[in-house]
Amino acid sequence: MSTLKGDLLRKELDIARFGDLLQHFPIRHVDKTKIEQIGSLTHHNEYAQVAGIVRSMEIIGEKRGRRLVVTLRDKTGEIELVWFQGISWMQKALQVGKAFLVFGRLGFFMGKPQIAHPEMELYTAQKPEGKNYLEPVYPTTEKLKAKGISGRAFSKFTYALLQLLSEKDLPENLPESLIKKYKFISHFEAFRQIHFPASEKHYQHALRRLKFEELFFAQLRMALIKSRRHRSSVGLVFEQVGSLFNDFYKHYLPFKLTEAQKRVLKEIRMDTGSGRQMNRLLQGDVGSGKTIVALMMMLLAGDNQFQSVIMAPTEILAQQHYNNITELLKDMPVCVKLLTGSSVSKTRKAVLKSCEDGTLNILVGTHAVLEENVKFKNLGFAVVDEQHKFGVEQRAKLWKKNAIPPHILVMTATPIPRTLALTAYGDLDYSVIDELPPGRKPIHTLHRNESARPQVMGFIKGELQKGRQAYIVYPLIEESSTLDYENLMKGYEEVKSFFPEPATWISMVHGKQKADQKDTNMQRFVTGDTQIMVSTTVIEVGVNVPNASVMLIESAEKFGLSQLHQLRGRVGRGAEKSFCILLTGPKISNDARERLKIMVATNDGFKIAEKDLEIRGPGDIEGTRQSGLLNFRLASIVEDKAMLEAARETVEQILETDAELELAENLRVKQYLQQQKGKTAWSKIS
Ligand code: ADP
Ligand code: MG
Repeated sequence: MSTLKGDLLRKELDIARFGDLLQHFPIRHVDKTKIEQIGSLTHHNEYAQVAGIVRSMEIIGEKRGRRLVVTLRDKTGEIELVWFQGISWMQKALQVGKAFLVFGRLGFFMGKPQIAHPEMELYTAQKPEGKNYLEPVYPTTEKLKAKGISGRAFSKFTYALLQLLSEKDLPENLPESLIKKYKFISHFEAFRQIHFPASEKHYQHALRRLKFEELFFAQLRMALIKSRRHRSSVGLVFEQVGSLFNDFYKHYLPFKLTEAQKRVLKEIRMDTGSGRQMNRLLQGDVGSGKTIVALMMMLLAGDNQFQSVIMAPTEILAQQHYNNITELLKDMPVCVKLLTGSSVSKTRKAVLKSCEDGTLNILVGTHAVLEENVKFKNLGFAVVDEQHKFGVEQRAKLWKKNAIPPHILVMTATPIPRTLALTAYGDLDYSVIDELPPGRKPIHTLHRNESARPQVMGFIKGELQKGRQAYIVYPLIEESSTLDYENLMKGYEEVKSFFPEPATWISMVHGKQKADQKDTNMQRFVTGDTQIMVSTTVIEVGVNVPNASVMLIESAEKFGLSQLHQLRGRVGRGAEKSFCILLTGPKISNDARERLKIMVATNDGFKIAEKDLEIRGPGDIEGTRQSGLLNFRLASIVEDKAMLEAARETVEQILETDAELELAENLRVKQYLQQQKGKTAWSKIS
């Protein structure tokens, strides 16, 4: 291959080594012996493979519409082949009067069959040699095709490469017992059969084997990171339960902890007493009460003369944590301070000083707490709220805030299905609050069309008259889009005209406001001075106003499932029955309709997360995207869930008896891991 093409391959498909080429798997196979008659092609054929003679070639159209149109004829009819790119290259490769075998996605234009950018090769009426008629079809890109690297070219490279390789080059990487147990074909054979299968059955065997490998090695890698960390890390020890924790528990805790909260507290306390550093992910649905767990651990840290920090993704949320915590601790000897990007320099200086001299016990803040000049005397416990809003590097900075890294608790209200959590966060310890505090009433969710707006507004008015409060949320697709803000402002005016009484006054919060403006508006809604909160999704995380009983989501079709669920979680926090109304325009896609149906059907964040995973696939689940952990080539954590679990169990069994993979039968596993090192960017989650 020329270096030019090599560069293009690397850029387009990240293929740089022979190993990468072998990992460029076919999307399907076509039976080369099956050539269809052009005259009998119908709309039912998604793909077509035909053979015929080129009758004419013509370039038509101008500029962007310029295209090469070729007519191909067999005994039964004619088909049109079209190229928009690589025109001159194709023109040279084709010739009127010559026979070609043609494959591609079939379309119809004015009733005539047509294939755009088909794969072409010279046709000889002889059958291909050997018994192998299943020809692989590889994904490629338009740019590569334009340079002659079509799907068929991949097939040729890969075939040639496999001819050169033997078992020695692709040695077995799974223990013998495992291969026997699952009746796997060998690693080498799997690669041959996935590209050039002898039959459909052979292909399925290869697929099963290679999917298992992917899932097994991904999880093994994570499990090794975790177990090595467990064995080697040195952590601060919270030895004693002292008066801060005990007094709070006995006198100031405003409610009884749920069983789930107690269990999680126990899990965290085990970690923080173990002498190794904790690195724990705490999951819990919106409103499940994660904050109080974090607060009690910060008090325990205080009992052991350590400082704590809690970091939230927005100023509003940080402020709210601060208000909440200072209120809960107002009669206790605990120094709590707030630090955000908008803290004025005088306050900031005082806060920094108290962090450094140790007079501060708990620092609440935004990512401002990560800054270089925020130094602690002895930071022992760090909490990251809504962890998916933070980047990996940001979280990693927390580790460096103390000579011995503090214990880290990352909290997330975006429930991640168990299978996903175990895979993506396999190197973290994992706790879940799977129970809501008692007395929560399920939120009644309705989907209404734009045409029902007057009734919806009438309903909200009724709720407001009962003394309740309401949220009205507008989508914000891009932080900078002026159109979105225009919609918000229009909405605000509309809301004002619907609710003219001065008693039901309105707050508005959005990302373009100054922090103090946001705060004032927010604060007025929290204290009940305003009854309606008009906002963008800045309201999404964490805000807590128990008297609010209605959440109206405008253009609900534009939101993702987990976002809708987060928004809905702003209501249903008090004793009143709460409502979430999803208002949509007249035209919505099938996917959007599916999302809304799920929202109406369930309040359970974990169920919603499962569905979200099914609809969107794991690549899009918030917080996992940047980790890149779930982009398997063959396996799917949705469809291959059973195999994922099996692989996980296998990993556990192996590491239980052989934590460092030193037994003879596991050596090949270890060697394979080492050889693969550096090929995948395994980033740390926290
Ligand atoms: P999230 O997990 O979404 O961060 P919060 O910690 O904000 O939830 O808690 C939501 C609300 O539930 C808060 O008002 C909190 O005081 C309350 N809460 C937490 N735990 C309990 C409990 N065990 N019993 C009653 N209310 C609770
Ligand atoms: Mg929260």
